[in-house]
Amino acid sequence: MSYDDQNIFAKILRGEIPNKTVYEDDHVLAFEDIQPQAPVHVLVIPKGPYKSMNEFSTEASDAEIVAWVRAIGKVAEIVDAKGPGYRLIVNNGDNAIQEVPHLHIHVLGGRRLGRMLPKAD
Ligand code: AMP
Repeated sequence: MSYDDQNIFAKILRGEIPNKTVYEDDHVLAFEDIQPQAPVHVLVIPKGPYKSMNEFSTEASDAEIVAWVRAIGKVAEIVDAKGPGYRLIVNNGDNAIQEVPHLHIHVLGGRRLGRMLPKAD
């Protein structure tokens, strides 16, 4: 399946939908999740059209990959300062119930987060 440029994060990247930006550079945008699951809940996305970790890890340039990882580190520092401690989650595909088909990593923190996985739906 090809990249759906009507997905909500593509619209955010084009400026068609507002977001609360936490960090931005040439390759990455980080913004607050609209339905936060913790006091700090930030999504870090590459600006390129990658649906999944699989695509990103095989098709993105080294510069894009480095930028994404460094941005995650920067956001994690902010989150850790409000914690301490945080969790990183990437949902990929149906089993993980990925809702938005544009790669994103959730950075969660600001409280104790409980065990890693709840029961399956
Ligand atoms: P996932 O289930 O991993 O695909 O997560 C998608 C995330 O995107 C959810 O946590 C949503 O709350 C979040 N989300 C959906 N629409 C928006 C939006 N317009 N701005 C910020 N976050 C959003």
